[in-house]
Amino acid sequence: MAVVFAQLVTRGETHGVHALLVPVRDGSGRALPGVTIEDCGRKAGLNGVDNGRLVFDRVRVPREALLDRFGDVAPDGTYTSPSANESRRFFTMLGTLVRGRISVAGGAVAATEKALALAIRYGLTRRQFADPATGEEVVVLDYLVHQRKLLPALATAYALHVAQAGLVADMHDVQAAGADADEQAQRDLETRAAGIKAVATWHATTTIQTCREACGGAGYLAVNLLPQLKADTDVFTTFEGDNTVLLQLVAKTLLSDYGRRVARLDPLGRARFVADLVATAVAERTGLRAVLRRGDLRDRAYQRWLLAEREQHLLANAARRMRTALAPGADRFAVFNGAQDHLLVAARAHVDRLVSDAFAEAVERVADPEVRALLEQVRGLYALTVIEGDRAFFVEHGYLTAGRAKAVTRTVNALCGELRPHARTLVDGIGIPETWLACPLLAGEQTPAPDLAPVG
Ligand SMILES: Cc1cc2nc3c(=O)[nH]c(=O)nc-3n(C[C@H](O)[C@H](O)[C@H](O)COP(=O)(O)OP(=O)(O)OC[C@H]3O[C@@H](n4cnc5c(N)ncnc54)[C@H](O)[C@@H]3O)c2cc1C
Repeated sequence: MAVVFAQLVTRGETHGVHALLVPVRDGSGRALPGVTIEDCGRKAGLNGVDNGRLVFDRVRVPREALLDRFGDVAPDGTYTSPSANESRRFFTMLGTLVRGRISVAGGAVAATEKALALAIRYGLTRRQFADPATGEEVVVLDYLVHQRKLLPALATAYALHVAQAGLVADMHDVQAAGADADEQAQRDLETRAAGIKAVATWHATTTIQTCREACGGAGYLAVNLLPQLKADTDVFTTFEGDNTVLLQLVAKTLLSDYGRRVARLDPLGRARFVADLVATAVAERTGLRAVLRRGDLRDRAYQRWLLAEREQHLLANAARRMRTALAPGADRFAVFNGAQDHLLVAARAHVDRLVSDAFAEAVERVADPEVRALLEQVRGLYALTVIEGDRAFFVEHGYLTAGRAKAVTRTVNALCGELRPHARTLVDGIGIPETWLACPLLAGEQTPAPDLAPVG
């Protein structure tokens, strides 16, 4: 049988997407009349899962086949639902699908961490080229560029891990409330799930490739697990929603929330809002911001200010561009299409700030001061990695001077060096069972890690 999500139409009225149980094969495994079943064929990875297409042509099922938690049909075709509001019903129904998207994000984070554990541990044993001072060959993780490849990616994996844990907890709360779930909470969850799924799966794809390269030729051997990991997670950026399309969804929600916030302002609030926009434009032209606010690059509040300003700036400007789409006679498609790149970076900036906040909150919850201090450094590396990745934005819009932008890079380098002695602790702290990492790549290790329970 298949669970088919389809439009439910009774007495000529459409009630939206509902789930139906539909038999697809007879007792001997042949497709039933009207049902066409095709296999998609061999894929780049995930070949343990069969993906196929089902086509239904005039297939009938009795009305009892409807999974009726959110809506039912009486023998005379009358439709009833515990949720009278159609849009609410639609979101409740879609809400059941958010689980898949959140699971893919979780799978992406886990795969990234596994790849990082393999590459970082290999980097602690693999030696290349002698240090002229000692004549001793250097372990590759002592090279700055190697640290650069792996440690910011590890910090990002930690950040996404805690953001993902928060998402799972919120999903539990929303779904436990069932039809009574708060509509806004449900929409927020959808948006956050879309954003974190996109960012986590892109991070998985780039990081797993980096880890493969960081293990040299050994990383290319199937026996060392990385090639299969790469093949199986590649499609995570596409299924459960293409990442680009998901970030557009995030941007659209942000824009409508922003529009509602501005509409709610009283006349004084609106006047302040316009004054802020003018001040913003002036500060941008004069580079004033960078002069007015020159915080310590390692300071959490300063990092947060930069990330929040980027988010607000991109969103406010996107909203301004979108306003032209509302003018009479405007070509709405052309306006939206012309601003697509802008909308995507605004959505990305929003997710980065959310993830960064989630990490900061998680660090605060750690009771052990030594562990907290170490995690605070990891958090700082994550935040500065994001800022460094978008240096052009911060310089172009007057948040950082060119000199400060270079200082960001120097600070990232310094943090990589400071975290290098803790690299093994940090990968062990993820708590990946040793049996999952068992491969010849790690055979050179003197002291395999004990199986640790994950912290927090
Ligand atoms: C292994 C696998 C398993 C799957 N399992 C399931 C499943 O169980 N159930 C199910 O329902 N589906 C499943 N899918 C389908 C999956 O959800 C879709 O492949 C995915 O949503 C992308 O859609 P598409 O393939 O049509 O890509 P397209 O929409 O054709 O995208 C192609 C390219 O166009 C870009 N693009 C598309 N629209 C826009 C736009 N508006 N603006 C800018 N760029 C755009 C995309 O970013 C992408 O780069 C599966 C897919 C795979 C590969």
